[in-house]
This record gives sequence, C-alpha cells and structure tokens, in this order.
Amino acid sequence: MMKHVLGARCVRCGKTYEAVPDLTNCECGGILDIEYDYEYIRRYFTRETLMGRGECSMWRYRELLPVEKDTPAPPLRVGWSPLYEEPRLAAELGIGRLWVKDDGLNPTASLKDRASSMAVAKAYEAGAEVIACSSTGNAASSLAGNAAAAGMRTYIFVPSRAPKGKVAQLLTFGATVISVMGSYEETFEISRYAIDRWGWYNRNAAINPYLSEGKKTVAYEIMEQLDWKTPDYIAISVGDGCTIAGLWKGLKDLHAMGFIDRLPRLISVQAAGCCPLNRAIAENAAWRPMEENTIADSIAVGMPRNPDKALAAIRESEGLAVNVSDEEIMAAQRILGRACGVFGEPAGVTGTAGVKKLCEEGRLPSGASVVSVVTGNGLKDVANAIRFAGEPISIQADAAELLSAFAERGIEP
Ligand SMILES: *Cc1c(COP(=O)(O)O)cnc(C)c1O
Ligand SMILES: [Zn+2]
Repeated sequence: MMKHVLGARCVRCGKTYEAVPDLTNCECGGILDIEYDYEYIRRYFTRETLMGRGECSMWRYRELLPVEKDTPAPPLRVGWSPLYEEPRLAAELGIGRLWVKDDGLNPTASLKDRASSMAVAKAYEAGAEVIACSSTGNAASSLAGNAAAAGMRTYIFVPSRAPKGKVAQLLTFGATVISVMGSYEETFEISRYAIDRWGWYNRNAAINPYLSEGKKTVAYEIMEQLDWKTPDYIAISVGDGCTIAGLWKGLKDLHAMGFIDRLPRLISVQAAGCCPLNRAIAENAAWRPMEENTIADSIAVGMPRNPDKALAAIRESEGLAVNVSDEEIMAAQRILGRACGVFGEPAGVTGTAGVKKLCEEGRLPSGASVVSVVTGNGLKDVANAIRFAGEPISIQADAAELLSAFAERGIEP
C-alpha cells in the first residue's frame, strides 16, 4: 500500500481506482490521474528536506512519486539535468530573463527517460519481466535503455520513419524492434494488439497513468533550480500531450505542497504541419486529427493520445499556444547551438522556436521570465541538423590551401 497515494481518478468520467502497479485506462476509455494525500506528505517532506539531499536524479523527489517505499530506483541516472540562464539570448529576443533546461542530457538523451524510469519502477512492483511500447522514437529508445539496465526485455513498435539515431539506440540496447510501415497511429494500434495478446507491461504513455508522474519531475527540478521562484512562462513542445500534462501536474503538486506560491503560464508549442491540440485551443473547440507533416518527428502526432490532460493543462494555466514552421524549428536549433552550446533535436528545440516567435510577434511582455525546455538531443537526428547547419570548409592537409580558403571566405583569425 502506498500511504501517500489516494488512488487514481478518470479525467473524463471521474471514476476512481485503486493505484495498482499495472493500472491502465478507465473502462470509459478516459485517462487516469494519480491523486496524492498532500496533507500527509507535507508532514515529512518539505523544501528543507531537499536541501540536505545528495540524490541527483528524478528520484530525489520520491516522496511525491507513486511508488512503494521499498521499490528500488532503476539503475540509470535520469533527471537533474542542467538549467542554464541565457542572458545573451534573452537580450536578443527582447525578454527579461530566459533559462534553457537541457533534458537532452538524460541517459538516452531525451525527457522520455523520466517516464521510462518510472515504467521500470512500476514494472518491478508488478513483477513484470517484459515491457512494451509504441513510440515516435524517444519513448522507445528510453524504455529500451532503462529496461536493459534493469535486466528487463523490451518489445518496441516504431513507425518506419523514425530517425536512424533512435533505431540505433534501440538495437544497441537489445530491444526486439518492430518497424511498422505506417503512421504513428497505426503503429500504436498494432502495439495495442500485441500487448493484449502477450500480456506485457504497457509503457504507452497515454495508457499507463504513472508515466506522466515521472515526467512531472522536470517541473520539480526547474523550480528547485530557480530556488522556488516561479517564472512567468514555461515553454515546451507538444505531441501526444503527456509531457506538458506532466509538467503541469508537477507544478500543481508543488503549489499544493506550498513549495511555490504561484503557478507559471504554459506555452504549448506544436509544429504548424501537425498541431491538433493547439488548433483546439485557438478555436476553443474539440480537437480533430491532423496530418503528420513536420520534420520534428517526435511531435508528429496527428491523433494525440493524451488530449484531455494536455488541453486542461494549457487552459488551466491560462497558457499560450503557438505553432512554428519547420524553418522556424531549424532556426531555433541553430540559435540554441550558437548562443547556448545546446544541441537539440527538431522536436527538442520546438519550444524555444515558439518562444522566439512569440517574442517577434510581441506576444510576451518585455520583462517576462521564461524557461524553455529542450526535450531531446540533436545527435538523435544528425541528418536533419546537417541539412540546415551549413557545410564545413573542406581542404587538403596543406597550409597554403588553408590560407586561401580563409582568404576566399573573408575569415581573419
Ligand atoms: C515525446 C517528445 C515530446 C512531446 O511529448 P508528448 O508527451 O508526446 O507531448 C517532445 N519532444 C521530444 C524530444 C519528445 O521525444
Ligand atoms: Zn472514465
């Protein structure tokens, strides 16, 4: 029994469930949300508790995570990624303060590691030895890595468009990889069939309600790293919607615990070629599926799996929704690289592209403080980075050629 967890409640119909380790969706099809006894947790977990704590991973916050007291933290070190203040970029964009949270520095190089670490912990509790998921790529590679470290086997379903870097990770981590020639939607459906048929532990993010509880630790870290001073905005890229929902859950947890005294507004950023959730916000209407037409493969989700929680997060936070073109995404990749030394994959930098666009459109107050989360590492998709980053100066190993190459380009070291 987890004494600090009250249970799970369906976000659609309100039905409640006991928080057993292999919890999936509500019988109505709605997604469950884990509920905590904050009064109880507050008695033994405070901001001061954290000050003396050495653990530098997402498990630093285990009092607010839905696991049993004696469940071991999985082996890979997930979380506690750096938060960099970027004054030069803030000045360039014309905002008060800007921080970049580089979650591409997780062990398998994306924010998804937070969910996968939680999946492995819950699989321990469920006594499962095999975990499965379908994914646009990062959920898959992070599950494969975190499970491998824990000695568990994985079956992974990815759409055949998944970039090579991610597939290389999967195969290296020893997953059984099924590459589906179809959309993410079709990939998801076939994984659902296989999981039902063979009874594997399910790491599909919008089905297993524990996964966004792992992702919410990104909010805890941002706030602790900011010494509990709430920024005006936090920007993040959105596909299925589990990440932004997790971010919001973490912020609300901290507010309920009294760790922070106000909540920031969220900035939901999607690719213009695939923005069903932002479209629903803009039209103040129900979401409708869309084509998956963007370079940002991790957020090319035409049929989002977690629309209820994501839309609620954006609306409750009085958030902003902004769509960016592939060109704007690749421009943000270069800017983050040049101004900050941070290399994000296309979906990883989409949040920052959204911040830049809002600044250009004058939609952020000039003194605003903004955190932009980079959700995945650029090395996962080198092919696209190379396409947009320009060419190196190519010469023979000859000093005269070096000098003339510099002269031709007006380079004066
Ligand atoms: C999965 C992912 C996202 C979006 O998360 P959702 O839960 O699908 O909204 C953003 N960026 C990267 C790099 C991702 O892998
Ligand atoms: Zn329900």
